[in-house]
Amino acid sequence: MNQIPPIKAAPSCADDADPTSLTVAQARSRILDTIAPIGDRQRLFLRDALGRVIAEEIISPLNVPGHTNSAMDGYALAGSELPGAAPREYRVAGTAYAGTPYDGGCASGECVRIMTGAPIPSGTDTVVMQEQARIVGEQHVQLSPGQKQGQNVRQAGEDIPKGGRVLDRGRQLTAADLGILSSLGIAEVSVYRRPRVAFFSTGDELRSIGESLGKGDVYDSNRYSLYGMLKRLDLEILDLGVVRDTPEALKEAFASAEATADLVITSGGVSVGEADYVKATLEELGRIRFWKIAMKPGRPLAYGSLGKALFFGLPGNPVAVMVTFMQFVEPAIRYLASGRPWSPLVIRAKALTPMRKRPGRFEFQRGILSLSPDGNLSVSDTGKQGSGILTSMSRANCFILLDEKNSGVAEGDLVDVQPFEPFMMGQGPRDYRAEGQGPRAEE
Ligand code: AMP
Ligand code: MG
Repeated sequence: MNQIPPIKAAPSCADDADPTSLTVAQARSRILDTIAPIGDRQRLFLRDALGRVIAEEIISPLNVPGHTNSAMDGYALAGSELPGAAPREYRVAGTAYAGTPYDGGCASGECVRIMTGAPIPSGTDTVVMQEQARIVGEQHVQLSPGQKQGQNVRQAGEDIPKGGRVLDRGRQLTAADLGILSSLGIAEVSVYRRPRVAFFSTGDELRSIGESLGKGDVYDSNRYSLYGMLKRLDLEILDLGVVRDTPEALKEAFASAEATADLVITSGGVSVGEADYVKATLEELGRIRFWKIAMKPGRPLAYGSLGKALFFGLPGNPVAVMVTFMQFVEPAIRYLASGRPWSPLVIRAKALTPMRKRPGRFEFQRGILSLSPDGNLSVSDTGKQGSGILTSMSRANCFILLDEKNSGVAEGDLVDVQPFEPFMMGQGPRDYRAEGQGPRAEE
């Protein structure tokens, strides 16, 4: 009889289609399902609210613009009085300035000199720009033909009507939003509290910068790349340093992280090696949800909760840390902060190089996206793709997304690409499903 090989329970690099692994999409949606967005609010002056997540819906108390006004410097008149096929002469009845409206009338054969932003005088509805006018005397002007009734006029409320919904709850306020809020005369807004994120590295081999390296030691780089990625988001960041690979040291670090943070991130110690205690410690002190994702780099990954805090145990390899952060932790943090599902922009580009890939896992290759001379986007990989090759991340400006089904890319194929610079995609309405008063959910 043939011997049946034992079923492999632990993740290994050899099996590309491990049935016990989650897909990237499954992992992402399971993570979002367990998060209750932060509900605590505070009021801030407008300028202090830049980049913060607005906690109220803004309904406009005003029309913007507040009055129908001129979009041009020129001459206002009634549309029925416009020149026909030939130029026509008008008497200039007065002048309207942005800060000093013209209150007089405008009779047949007359027009009003008007500046940009000035309210449209009564009896007029059309502005002829001054480039189409010729002054023919102290009080007279000749206007050219070819004008249309209603041209060069901005209608009251055409940008924002009074009572209209301007900003949705859960939106991260941009420079334009500050401008809009100030145009409505709003001085203060309510925003959600920033998420507090604690992170630390695990590993007996890790040394801090300034320490000398013994045999087998490496400098801790994950805490720095994590810091860099966290810093781009609007957060309170708490760096808890390097923690030794002992259950006692980990328990202590977990306890202080749990006490202060909404979300805890660790790197290293989540595989099945002798000194990998992160998963076991999380199982003991908190809850673990899953720890295998069919992706490369990045498997294994521990997700769960520690008290009320969300917990991400990222793998130790420097590239895997950055990939799993960008694919799972960043969407989780953005959802925690705003209640809006967020996903990065994905575009298509032509592959300049062939890429080897076996079906089974989702691969995040590091790529360089550029505009080729024919005007199309093209992408090449950065060379060696090992999960310890951190220079591949620094050289790259995008991920090349090769999904589970992909079985390799030929030169000239179109591939999905995720640019690194965050685009504010998916700012749809806030998703209220999981809203909680507390920042996080246990279950
Ligand atoms: P681990 O997941 O703990 O087995 O670590 C996997 C690999 O990543 C090992 O080669 C570690 O030395 C390396 N590594 C883990 N943590 C860090 C870190 N913070 N900085 C640099 N390399 C790390
Ligand atoms: Mg380790």
